[in-house]
Amino acid sequence: MVGGLFRNIKYNLDFWRKNVHINDNVLHSAFEVGTHKVVSCLSTCIFPDKTTYPIDETMIHNGPPHSSNFGYSYAKRMIDVQNRAYFQQHGCTFTAVIPTNVFGPHDNFNIEDGHVLPGLIHKVHLAKSNGSALTVWGTGKPRRQFIYSLDLARLFIWVLREYNEVEPIILSVGEEDEVSIKEAAEAIVEAMDFCGEVTVSFDFRDGLSLDQGVQFDSTKSDGQYKKTASNSKLRAYLPEFRFTPFKQAVKETCTWFTDNYEQARK
Ligand code: GDP
Repeated sequence: MVGGLFRNIKYNLDFWRKNVHINDNVLHSAFEVGTHKVVSCLSTCIFPDKTTYPIDETMIHNGPPHSSNFGYSYAKRMIDVQNRAYFQQHGCTFTAVIPTNVFGPHDNFNIEDGHVLPGLIHKVHLAKSNGSALTVWGTGKPRRQFIYSLDLARLFIWVLREYNEVEPIILSVGEEDEVSIKEAAEAIVEAMDFCGEVTVSFDFRDGLSLDQGVQFDSTKSDGQYKKTASNSKLRAYLPEFRFTPFKQAVKETCTWFTDNYEQARK
């Protein structure tokens, strides 16, 4: 059971219970039928909130997660515990991957429940049809490493075929490819050719700024400021792997959403 920041904040109990049940049902059924390999999916949002950066695979259990998604985080951490126990007791190759923020075609574009990129793509689509402004939640300052779902799918298949450790592996773009929520919103605005109402505002710290139809609602939560992850382990295995450039991946996702608006999950 997954969701964006705002769904996590509302349903910590459900995230904990459903994921713990899924973990145990899937892993124990896999064990009972003699499955050779299981690859479970964790997330970089389950890491400790107070930490040093970059985060790496050894740090999952080093401290409490961010309060916004503790239900999801603790449940997902238990997959790592369970994988180690199945290996110790029965020699199973059950492992886990840890992707950063995933986006792409067929995502959940629901504004309340979904993650930031699909949520903003949907909002820009509506703002364009209504002639209204785009509201980005929070300050726009938090930073995220986004991974395109097609790149992640390629890496998943590699993990399934070639990666034989029980220890988890982070699947992420490099630290240098981390972007702010504001920059991510700008990439969507550019890809969808959005040009809303222009307003001018003044802030004592930032000075005069021209607002091309994009507003920030700082009454909404920013969530975790950043969770910069290291992809050194992945790079040691796959030094040549090429990630789709962020702007190209955003453009392809926006085009998919516009072309498939009626059927898209929203
Ligand atoms: P997270 O990476 O686990 O925190 O989850 P999200 O993908 O939901 O990203 C949350 C970040 O994006 C926070 O900093 C939010 O304030 C910001 N944000 C800005 N606009 C939106 C929006 O429309 N939807 C969501 N989910 N987050 C938004």
